[in-house]
Amino acid sequence: MSHVLHRSLTQSYPTAVGGDGVYLIDAEGKRYFDACGGAAVSCLGHGDPAVIAAVQQQVATLAYAHSSFFSTEPMEALADLLAEQAPGELNYVYFVSGGSEAVEAALKLARQYFVEKGEPRRRHVIARRQSYHGNTLGALAAGGNQWRRQQFQPLLIEVSHVSPCYAYRDQLPSETPEAYGVRLVAELEAEIQRLGPEQVMAFIAEPVVGATLGAVPAVPGYFKGVRDLCDRHGILLICDEVMCGMGRTGALFASTQEGIVPDLLCIAKGLGAGYQPIGATLVSQTIVDTFRNGSGFFQHGHTYIGHATACAAALAVQQAIAERGLLARINSLGEQLQQALEERFSTHPHVGDIRGRGLFRGIELVQHKASKAPFEPTLKLHAKVKTAAMDAGLMCYPMGGTLDGRRGDHILLAPPFIMEDRHIDELVDKLEQALNTVFN
Ligand code: PMP
Repeated sequence: MSHVLHRSLTQSYPTAVGGDGVYLIDAEGKRYFDACGGAAVSCLGHGDPAVIAAVQQQVATLAYAHSSFFSTEPMEALADLLAEQAPGELNYVYFVSGGSEAVEAALKLARQYFVEKGEPRRRHVIARRQSYHGNTLGALAAGGNQWRRQQFQPLLIEVSHVSPCYAYRDQLPSETPEAYGVRLVAELEAEIQRLGPEQVMAFIAEPVVGATLGAVPAVPGYFKGVRDLCDRHGILLICDEVMCGMGRTGALFASTQEGIVPDLLCIAKGLGAGYQPIGATLVSQTIVDTFRNGSGFFQHGHTYIGHATACAAALAVQQAIAERGLLARINSLGEQLQQALEERFSTHPHVGDIRGRGLFRGIELVQHKASKAPFEPTLKLHAKVKTAAMDAGLMCYPMGGTLDGRRGDHILLAPPFIMEDRHIDELVDKLEQALNTVFN
């Protein structure tokens, strides 16, 4: 019996001992096709020689230097690269160790920005229902999943929640996608007015919703409407691209596909591709200038900010994505994957929707296609899919109905960018095997 304290105290997990390209290998020698990169992390697959060499070299040269004393070469090089790739005036990079920390930093930067600007009353955050932004207390407060939040209330920051952009369930039959987007922006506007615009500091959202809805992109125009609204009321827009960013949707930054530039942009998972834990918050020139003209100091920090080995790993990952032309590959593989999923599952009685962008795809499971009725959450269908998929040698990321409206179960797919065309058939075959086990 292992002494590791997992999240679940009742489940046991196989021991992962190796990784080989798109496969993970357990202690029994079983190989799993890693079609979710854990949780959209391992975008370069496992055992990438270029990244391993970069990590080994950095550990041998300088593993760590505290960021209150030094900058390091990989930290500077990675920040330069990200700032160059990032849109608009997102010119600065605040490094952290993961997604929750990136969101936490964004929330604290936003708060301090308004204090520095002389608008200290702005401390209210608006987020969306059924969202996930991390598990630290600030990020948890932002998230809109009642089941996760309820035990920890009252949470530490003031947050209210508006509807997510979820066309499959919420767009009315009489509505165009554009009209649905306009309706959602009007709902956000009403919430801003209810709170008083001078009280609101930020709106936070994922451009393509990952874990909580299953790869759901926004309808056209929605994010442009949100951006305009934030500008009109002096509210900061935070895009949480922890899961959908760094190429996953076919663009390095998913918000660029919406034609907008946020004020703060959070990245993690695919940034270091799992070779090292790393995340970052990209910060606009305007925010940084305000700090420069004010206290000149961000009241925040962690021991492992800009960890040299983590930055070297992320730099090697991002260089590999650029040098190997993987962004174009993500787009063509993504189309092929969508087509293969539709061919195999669109007539499945319990597959309600197949959607996504790039190598970020979601399948929604329903009791009845026509009514879109979700399965009862007590069935824990998503957990059954996960077990059946693991048995079939497939890692996918099923998530389930929550207390928050019981909106159903879905399967998230986020395979590695390095996968080959033939892997699509393998993925779809194994998924079919898992669904047959669950539904037969
Ligand atoms: N934001 C989003 C959108 C996420 O998907 C996640 C992780 N699933 C987080 C934040 C938190 O990231 P981490 O688990 O690295 O703290």
